[in-house]
Amino acid sequence: MFAESPIKRRKSTRIYVGNVAIGDGAPIAVQSMTNTSTTDVAATVAQIKRIQAVGGELVRVSIPTMDAAEAFKLIKQQVDIPLIADIHFDYRIALKVAEYGVDCLRINPGNIGSMDRVKSVVDCARDKGIPIRIGVNGGSLEKDLQEKYGEPTPMALVESAMRHVDILDKLNFTQFKVSVKASDVFLAVGAYRELAKRIDQPLHLGITEAGGLRAGAVKSSVGLGMLLAEGIGDTIRISLAADPVEEIKVGFDILKSLRIRSRGINFIACPSCSRQEFDVITTVNALEQRLEDLLTPMDVSIIGCVVNGPGEAEVSDIGLTGARNMSGYYVDGKRQKERLSNDDLVDQLEKRIRAKAAQLEQKNQIKVKQVS
Ligand code: SF4
Repeated sequence: MFAESPIKRRKSTRIYVGNVAIGDGAPIAVQSMTNTSTTDVAATVAQIKRIQAVGGELVRVSIPTMDAAEAFKLIKQQVDIPLIADIHFDYRIALKVAEYGVDCLRINPGNIGSMDRVKSVVDCARDKGIPIRIGVNGGSLEKDLQEKYGEPTPMALVESAMRHVDILDKLNFTQFKVSVKASDVFLAVGAYRELAKRIDQPLHLGITEAGGLRAGAVKSSVGLGMLLAEGIGDTIRISLAADPVEEIKVGFDILKSLRIRSRGINFIACPSCSRQEFDVITTVNALEQRLEDLLTPMDVSIIGCVVNGPGEAEVSDIGLTGARNMSGYYVDGKRQKERLSNDDLVDQLEKRIRAKAAQLEQKNQIKVKQVS
């Protein structure tokens, strides 16, 4: 029962990272980055697969050395999700991973060195259809910009990004996206707002080094939420000092909150109080864990009593309203004759939610068939 998001997306050009469309109205892609040693091929492949299993659509891999580039070749052969190579300074690494099938190069043209080297990377990217991501970071601003602005400011970040953009413009290369990340929410938001006015290319959003799981998720939600609500942003990464899998989950939760993308269950649950007729918190936590694998978008409301239960259930795909011993059960907003015993709510709800998800999936397939 998802309502349309009222957000009007910023118009941008379109690029493709592998088979993932970015910009020009394409769904906002959720990405993460591996934190294994890239030369440990088995560990990196396993982590990429875990990221993909929870819905990750793009994965960035750090390539600091030629050994890592050789490992990248093996990694690329074992995964089927677009990979972005993170490269600093060494243009030869960029050429090497391009040869090995990289889907996007995260490299700043202004940091490559001589124009000949820049041109060799850009020509190679053009020939192979590989887009570039320019990535400016508040923590590594050029010295002269730090002196000019006194400290990292939104304008300093934008000026840095525009230097790289200008190089690509001169080489007539348009297939790029840009990020201007900072660990400070206002700094990042200010920079993205300004950059959005200056270029037409897609923007990759992130609040960099946001922190651990809870604080980082909150900081990212605030920063990215402000930008996404204004229609700014085409891909996102939640930068957490945590398992990359969590970055994907938080990313989708942010998009879900803004009704930009719906993926998996949107739980509506009350915080519970002494009126609750069953243990709301335990029930919701258990269901969240058990149903992590479900990708079908649906609203499920789990409310402890009749104060708010019926109202929420009436706008949910599945709803539960706490009542003594046997709770009220709703499907498609309609109250069912059947009531669910409070003794084994988790088992009963899991079964019913899975059945409903299968039904919704089938409906979607029929719709797709009719359209095609
Ligand atoms: S819906 Fe009922 S149980 Fe839940 S917080 Fe409100 S009053 Fe308490």
